[in-house]
Amino acid sequence: MEHKPWYANGLRFECTRCGNCCRNHGEYTFVSLSEVELRQIPAFLGVSRDEFLARYCELEAGFHPTLKMDAPACPFLGADQSCAIYPVRPKQCRTWPFWTENLREATWRGPVKECCPGIDQGKLHSAEEIERTARENDAWYSA
Ligand code: SF4
Ligand code: SF4
Repeated sequence: MEHKPWYANGLRFECTRCGNCCRNHGEYTFVSLSEVELRQIPAFLGVSRDEFLARYCELEAGFHPTLKMDAPACPFLGADQSCAIYPVRPKQCRTWPFWTENLREATWRGPVKECCPGIDQGKLHSAEEIERTARENDAWYSA
């Protein structure tokens, strides 16, 4: 018999635009950048890749570069909670909160909900949509 996930009937999520997921808060602090993003974001900002890496990124051998989140927020989070690079924002920002690591029930109902007031609000997302989004995020950063 097919095993149904705990979210088989879907999950509600609608962003309230509080900006919390763009701030430094422990384990959800890392925003990884793929090769595509390392081309698109500097081009959008009109800076070189090297300048972008030096000003806005943390580098660690063997891992994707990540955005500096120690300001205490993402450097692109505006005072009005908007994203200054919204058209080219990283895949992670587009796919939150439907990441594979967030889809354990205890994680979803615990730290993810604590971080994100949009959890359990608004639109119902189907299990199929949730898993497609999680797979898309995983594939993006493993390419
Ligand atoms: S924490 Fe949740 S509700 Fe707040 S901006 Fe991020 S996704 Fe939207
Ligand atoms: S890039 Fe934009 S959406 Fe992503 S963490 Fe920074 S401000 Fe938030």
